[in-house]
Amino acid sequence: MDTDVLSYHNFKSSPLTDLHPTDDLKGALLVLDWTYKTYGESVVYACSFGAEGIVLIDLISKIKEDANIVFLDTDLHFQETYDLIDKVKLRYPKLQIELKKPELSLEEQSTQYGSALWKKDPNQCCYIRKIKPLENALDGATAWISGLRREQSLSRSKTNYVNKDERFKSIKICPLIYWTWKDVWSYIQLNNLDYNDLHDKNYPSIGCIPCTTPASETGDQRSGRWQGLNKTECGLHTKSDSQ
Ligand code: SF4
Repeated sequence: MDTDVLSYHNFKSSPLTDLHPTDDLKGALLVLDWTYKTYGESVVYACSFGAEGIVLIDLISKIKEDANIVFLDTDLHFQETYDLIDKVKLRYPKLQIELKKPELSLEEQSTQYGSALWKKDPNQCCYIRKIKPLENALDGATAWISGLRREQSLSRSKTNYVNKDERFKSIKICPLIYWTWKDVWSYIQLNNLDYNDLHDKNYPSIGCIPCTTPASETGDQRSGRWQGLNKTECGLHTKSDSQ
């Protein structure tokens, strides 16, 4: 695959969605290599430390061992997630992993908005605890990396390698768009990567404790997120993306 075709400036006229790379990693390493060569130090990987996250961390470490990685630490994550981050830090000591906190503590949020905001107004809660911190983390960054895969949900089915991100005034790179869930786990097992223990308890997608349950038998892999609420995304990946 010609890396020029991945250029953001060309992507609208290039049918990236029709590209089907045939290498074992489905283009992921090539896309990452292009990303760091094109955008250099101003690339941030916003990692949730899910299964796709640890695959991307391993791939990124092969290209840029001191890459900038941000975890949006809402103060509401499972202990298993924090345990995994500690293991990743040990395995990849040169990576620059930052746990980005919201401006408001949970107590301050309760005082200003009432308790359990995630029940009353989850969009506002996500804005305070995820979107605003990512906005701050991406200040000065020209590109950010995300582990979105097309098969995860309908809302992600048209994601491209390179997406103009109107929400964060940046470019969003998604190297794993063609990976299946099976591809992700094959890579994890083949490379003996640490992963979140909750994945073995039917949590394919893991976020904050109040908004994460095991996946339903009939739903997609994100069916355990915001169950019972009219919400499927935290707002980091909105339809404002040009895809
Ligand atoms: Fe709040 Fe839930 Fe969003 Fe976490 S996922 S920031 S708890 S609404």
